[in-house]
Amino acid sequence: MSYTLINPATEEAMETIEALDVEAVDAAVEKARGAQVAWAGLNPADRAMLLRRFADAVDGDREHLAELEVRNSGHPIGNARWEAEHVRNVLEYYAATPERLFGKQIPVAGGLDVTFQEPLGVVGVITPWNFPMTIASWGFAPALAAGNAVVLKPAEWTPLTSLRLAELGLEAGLPEGLFQVLTGKGSVVGNRFVTNPTVRKVVFTGSTEVGKQIMAGCADQVKRVTLELGGKSANIVFADADVAKAATTAPSSVFDNSGQDCCARSRILVQRSVFDEFMQHFETAVTSLNVGDPTQSTTDMGPLVSRAHHDAVSAYVDADTPVAFRGTAPEGPGFWFAPTVVTPESRTDRCMTEEIFGPVVAVVPFEDEADAVSLANATEFGLSGSIWTRDVARAIRVARGVESGNLSVNSHSSVRYNTPFGGFKQSGLGRELGPDAHLAFTETKNVFIPTTEQD
Ligand code: NAP
Ligand code: MG
Repeated sequence: MSYTLINPATEEAMETIEALDVEAVDAAVEKARGAQVAWAGLNPADRAMLLRRFADAVDGDREHLAELEVRNSGHPIGNARWEAEHVRNVLEYYAATPERLFGKQIPVAGGLDVTFQEPLGVVGVITPWNFPMTIASWGFAPALAAGNAVVLKPAEWTPLTSLRLAELGLEAGLPEGLFQVLTGKGSVVGNRFVTNPTVRKVVFTGSTEVGKQIMAGCADQVKRVTLELGGKSANIVFADADVAKAATTAPSSVFDNSGQDCCARSRILVQRSVFDEFMQHFETAVTSLNVGDPTQSTTDMGPLVSRAHHDAVSAYVDADTPVAFRGTAPEGPGFWFAPTVVTPESRTDRCMTEEIFGPVVAVVPFEDEADAVSLANATEFGLSGSIWTRDVARAIRVARGVESGNLSVNSHSSVRYNTPFGGFKQSGLGRELGPDAHLAFTETKNVFIPTTEQD
């Protein structure tokens, strides 16, 4: 079985990709298991060196990886270059792990007590189509660094950069079978990661709906699971903020990657007294966004990823939708969708509650600080968010009050490889990136050795 990829900016047919069956997945997992045992037995310095070589191989291939993402996913080339560099950085950061995978020595009576961080074995990583290569690296880099093997299932629509990364790993000298990319359907390949008992952990990034199924499936084998799911993040603008700056930076916080971003600040909450001022600046910023050919470095926003996703996003904007203004988008082939700003009357409008995952943002007024925090928290999600105010104490109070894993004051920070990332509530379970991510790919083992006669 195979299927054909479509370039989202031109609708041209591209590479044909193999859709693996369950038997092929099982064979790959067996191979991974063999490679993992040898990998975990290597000198830690050698594992570190191989990961640094992998980072170097990615570094040398950055432009190629970026071009693949432009063709396969429609990401603007400037964004795609950042993504390829980010993968290199993630690998380099976790290359330090094998030589620093410390345990503890714990004072106890009658002997020596030490802990070890043991690898889990084979880890299955399942990724979505919105940031194919970066999200893959958040799973495979710390997992490999902690002594595991990885089987990676990329989203059906966007496998090209993942396939290339597996080649680069082999070229860098990673053992055969240690890091394999298995293409195909989520319901077949991804689901087999859940049911095959040799896969000891599943790292899933994708929709909350599928994430719940994965978690339920993993329960059967008490399989470890990390979930990075949906979001409906708030960008909160107080009257005492630099309102012009908040408004001119807001487009990138929600329309970056055409809004196909789990961290998109897709609800903008503006204090009522500065609402009109905010909207004026925001309109200028949105209408001047450069939406078009993703191969050009001047492009801010490319197309949506597929026809099916274009249809899903379009369903949120119909004749009854209170559209305040829209940006531009090209005509002709390609899954184009103009940036769209809506001002719903009701706080329970579906544009305020559902993750649209496209370039549609809802802007609503709030009254005071308590109202802002309660509105920001009026969602099942809790992934990201921004707070704009010149009052430091308020910034801290609101940052502590918003139920979300990643907040940014007077800025819209994107993900950093050296800080923890993940969601509150139904946005996820566990954390990726940052100084501790590799620990999520280990079990803590405690060993006691008596130094005196035991009773
Ligand atoms: P999705 O439909 O949930 O798919 C994600 C991945 O899971 C794909 O590889 C998919 O394969 C696979 N899959 C589907 N059904 C499966 C099953 N029954 N068992 C195992 N695997 C299965 O999500 P998406 O539409 O690709 O991505 C968009 C979603 O991802 C959004 O909700 C977004 O918020 C979320 N996201 C979250 C984060 C985060 O870090 N929190 C980051 C990025 C995206 P197929 O391609 O074959 O369907
Ligand atoms: Mg899907």
